[in-house]
Amino acid sequence: MEQFDLIIIGSGPGGYVCAIRAAQLGLKVCCVEKGKTLGGTCLNIGCIPSKSLLHASQIFSDTKHYANMGIDIRGVKLNLTKMMASKDESVSGLTDGIKFLFKKNKITHIQGFGKISGKNEVTVLNDDNDQVITGKNIVIATGSEVAVPENVIIDEKDILSSTGALSLDKVPEELVIVGAGYIGLEMGSVWSRLGSKVTVIEYADRIVPNMDKEISNQFQKILIKQGIDFKLSTAFKKINKKDGKLYIAIETQQGQASEINCDKVLISIGRKPYTFGLNLEEVGVKTDDKGFIVTKNNFQTSVDNIFAIGDCKLGPMLAHKASEEGTALAEIIVGQAGHINFDTIPSVVYTSPEVASVGKTEEELKLANINYKVGKFPFTANAKAKVMHETAGFVKILSDASSDKVLGVHMIGADVGNMIAELALAMEFGASSEDIARTCHAHPTLTESIKEAALNVDKRAIHI
Ligand SMILES: Cc1cc2nc3c(=O)[nH]c(=O)nc-3n(C[C@H](O)[C@H](O)[C@H](O)COP(=O)(O)OP(=O)(O)OC[C@H]3O[C@@H](n4cnc5c(N)ncnc54)[C@H](O)[C@@H]3O)c2cc1C
Repeated sequence: MEQFDLIIIGSGPGGYVCAIRAAQLGLKVCCVEKGKTLGGTCLNIGCIPSKSLLHASQIFSDTKHYANMGIDIRGVKLNLTKMMASKDESVSGLTDGIKFLFKKNKITHIQGFGKISGKNEVTVLNDDNDQVITGKNIVIATGSEVAVPENVIIDEKDILSSTGALSLDKVPEELVIVGAGYIGLEMGSVWSRLGSKVTVIEYADRIVPNMDKEISNQFQKILIKQGIDFKLSTAFKKINKKDGKLYIAIETQQGQASEINCDKVLISIGRKPYTFGLNLEEVGVKTDDKGFIVTKNNFQTSVDNIFAIGDCKLGPMLAHKASEEGTALAEIIVGQAGHINFDTIPSVVYTSPEVASVGKTEEELKLANINYKVGKFPFTANAKAKVMHETAGFVKILSDASSDKVLGVHMIGADVGNMIAELALAMEFGASSEDIARTCHAHPTLTESIKEAALNVDKRAIHI
């Protein structure tokens, strides 16, 4: 029976990063993965394939607007098969990359379904032969799965989850999306750019409801201009299938019922922790009422040598959060001070324009009775945005009314997904808006809008 210092179940961005960091620190590591390839949801059916399609569909849609800049491109045609093949190539390149990194770091990879069969034991179930391995510590990094309403069966043909929506072989004429979270809006943007009529149904009264309200309102206006329809404050009821068409029954909060027809529907109401078949109850690992594994600050579960990281435990369901937890946990296990600041985890929606944020929203500050100052700057007044013809959106900085410490930053605009890193770093160092305002930003760059928004916290922006 093979013995390890650390057995990790799941090779997503939580599990594989934890495995590599632990191996760097000298531990003998095994990673058990039930999928055929490494990398989990993120690399195989999440972040990477979605960003590939967002990137390609944006280029396709941009070609229509280049004529304004004197570049007259005609006869642009979509080859969806090639677009999908290019996406698959990026995915396999990256998943193979993890395989290489595992080899390089001498991490044992066992393919099969991991079941915790004892405090220090994992049984790897495999078609050919089951295998029992033992480890001093076990990490559960089994991620999440799509949440589906009770009366819906996903067939990935007409009734889709994000996985099916990433692999369609034909552009749907009419696509209905249930749920206006970031995954629904990213997939809606892809298919709308490629020619679908997209309608998004959302139960809340605004899109991406946990986003800063001002940004979310602006975001919706921009997406409407791009041709996406929204039905807010509207409940999804059921899907009726008749003569090859789908009829989506909905009801407004005032009780008005109606139906929308379409050829495909994407169910995108969120994700839930995936802990199926792990044998948690029997080994004593506790979960909460939503199925998330309960952990202490050091990622320890109710069993002292079993830990959990990533989407299967509470916290933002984001790849970089899972990876940070993986790194911190490996360091904690060897006695180092692994640490994560959950207040500075950025989040990005990769639509066009992008939306990015870090820290508290204005609504959260109000709810917590924290006095704050606001500085905003629109991209219409930014020179680089002007030459790029990308003037939609703005930067909004929230800082503490008395100390001026930055509490949150919310941006909508071109490339803000890259720009948010500056603000996460600033907040990590406890920066004030004055610190950002006094930092020289290169001209002409989109990042000058960050400096201007910081200046505007004290109403002294230069270019508005
Ligand atoms: C369409 C889509 C787009 C996304 N885009 C982004 C984005 O742009 N940025 C971002 O930060 N996040 C994004 N996410 C979220 C991101 O994918 C997740 O937050 C991230 O993958 C979580 O990492 P994880 O390691 O916790 O779990 P996962 O990546 O889900 O990996 C878990 C792994 O565990 C394996 N596993 C489960 N149970 C067992 C078992 N018993 N035995 C063996 N193996 C097992 C699974 O097969 C899987 O490979 C997106 C998600 C989706 C669906």
